[in-house]
Amino acid sequence: MYKNGHIGLALLFAAPFAFLFGILFGPHWGVLTLVFSFTTARVPDMDQRLKILTHRGFTHTIWFALIVSVAMGSLVTQLVSILEFNTIGNGEFLSWLVADIPTLLLATFGFMLGFISHLVGDILTEAYDYTINPYWPISNKPYTLGWATADSRLWNWGLLLCGSVSAGTVLFLIALS
Ligand SMILES: [Zn+2]
Repeated sequence: MYKNGHIGLALLFAAPFAFLFGILFGPHWGVLTLVFSFTTARVPDMDQRLKILTHRGFTHTIWFALIVSVAMGSLVTQLVSILEFNTIGNGEFLSWLVADIPTLLLATFGFMLGFISHLVGDILTEAYDYTINPYWPISNKPYTLGWATADSRLWNWGLLLCGSVSAGTVLFLIALS
């Protein structure tokens, strides 16, 4: 799956949660959930640019997704704290995280959605010589459905269209509510 397909799938995955969080916690959480998922949608494929990593290796596991999502969620939480308290970091990073668990959880979850959508996208894609082992090294079981070819226009553009329409609809509904 290419860029368009992964971005579309990330928006599609995030849309129902963006709607829920937007209604429950305020419109900004609707927007942020979409943005966070969009941000991480293509991160696993950075292994194609770094020669030390094998393609569809560690960056395509749920552990990598979890580590990076928690790290990025922590940064967002600290940023929110800095903005809210109008101050700059003074070494109280951990106490801020503990003080704002809801932001940490929501942001981490948003980033996770992008990663999970990526793994699902690759599972849908015909594997050639690369398969996804999302639970490596605990399990080496490869996952592949092979429903789409990586360069399928129908899948790539279709997913982008579905994702964009879902995201747009959610933003519209949140704005109305
Ligand atoms: Zn990938």
